[in-house]
Amino acid sequence: MEGYQAPRGMRDIFPEELETWQEFEEQARSLLTRYGYQEIRTPLVEEKSLFERSVGQDTDIVMKEMYTFLDRKGRNLALRPEGTASVVRAYIQSQYYQRKKISRFWYEGPMFRYDRPQKGRYRQFYQLGVEILGGKDPYFDVEAISLLRELVVAAEVSDAQIHLNSLGCPACQQNYREILRTFLRSNEVRFCQDCQRRLQSNILRIFDCKNAQCAEVVRVSPPLIDKLCTSCLAHLQAVKEALDNLGVPVKIDQWLVRGLDYYTGPVFEAFVSQETNAIAAGGRYDTLVSSLGGPNLPAVGFAIGLDRLMTLKDSRTHRASVIRAFFLGGRAKSVGISLIDNLRRLGLAVEVDYEDRPLKTHLQIAHREKIQWCLIMGENEIAQQKFLLKNMETRHQYTIALNEAGQKIRELTCSETASVGK
Ligand code: ATP
Ligand code: MG
Repeated sequence: MEGYQAPRGMRDIFPEELETWQEFEEQARSLLTRYGYQEIRTPLVEEKSLFERSVGQDTDIVMKEMYTFLDRKGRNLALRPEGTASVVRAYIQSQYYQRKKISRFWYEGPMFRYDRPQKGRYRQFYQLGVEILGGKDPYFDVEAISLLRELVVAAEVSDAQIHLNSLGCPACQQNYREILRTFLRSNEVRFCQDCQRRLQSNILRIFDCKNAQCAEVVRVSPPLIDKLCTSCLAHLQAVKEALDNLGVPVKIDQWLVRGLDYYTGPVFEAFVSQETNAIAAGGRYDTLVSSLGGPNLPAVGFAIGLDRLMTLKDSRTHRASVIRAFFLGGRAKSVGISLIDNLRRLGLAVEVDYEDRPLKTHLQIAHREKIQWCLIMGENEIAQQKFLLKNMETRHQYTIALNEAGQKIRELTCSETASVGK
């Protein structure tokens, strides 16, 4: 039998890679707290129809990419393909809007889409997302975009470019659909089958088509941005101006559309030079809360693709490494273990190899595993109320009295790790 493999398009993330993620997560958490955002955790599974209603029936996500299943009672469920629908569902279900005029949430976790696996595209991928619920002022959009930029900077990714467009309110979109339908009718034969259907069902989705010939036709259509109503145009201009004033660079991109139906105003995506795919995307969605059965409340949000962002981030800071402890003989083991307990209580990180091996073997293993500090205790050391601490890089060995353990280890590991690490 062949060995088990992770499901296609899904992967394991091991501790070495996760260190980079965790560094970013710490920074992000602190940044989000300073902006007044609070974390929310929602189920990974929702009713399938929640996504049909929010993301849209005629989107790639709903038509081709959802993991759906019936549970034992025949409920039609789906693994969440994105986070906004769940957050909005939770917000409405709990009537959270009665607690706060403006709610600021963030979430992080896995999303599931039956995408075609390739670099930066997985079937289980991770997003960190932000939703501001209850705010209509353009400065809420500005805050979302500035925060996105700050988060990208926190990942030490310096060359991100943010593209901005507006999809307009439902009235703008309705008006534009007519204009587009008239324009595109003459080009109908050049469209792929999907787009021929979209002409009838959801014409704006044509902009989202990855087919080159469809893209060509779309490129010569009148852009939506030229057809926005006065208030949508003013909103977009206010967002752009405020961002300019704040020194947050954004580029107006009249062809930017989103793959989800719920957007109703400014939309944006972040790109970096090394990646053709966006690393983050978002926008305003003023009708989603009401269309899912809640009150008529405006909202704006975005999600960062962490798998993509984390491949761009270097892990610079080296965490203080864990000390490897081992004992030579049974008595040393029992005395040693209470020493280790104390060290951990003092905040030091210690891992123990409990196996009985010769000293030389222990040291070889530690060397091979790139351990920097070994704590060694044998019968002689116990007799003298002492133990050994060995720096594997410099090969220096220190004898430390048991009653000075914490303080001495801290002094040595801090000063030498800092200088050796340079
Ligand atoms: P794409 O056009 O790349 O398919 P999308 O428009 O479907 O992206 P969104 O729904 O806007 O993506 O999700 C926000 C972010 O999540 C994306 O910008 C991307 O960084 C990330 N993302 C989306 N799908 C995947 C995936 N299958 N694997 C990894 N990251 C993804
Ligand atoms: Mg996609």
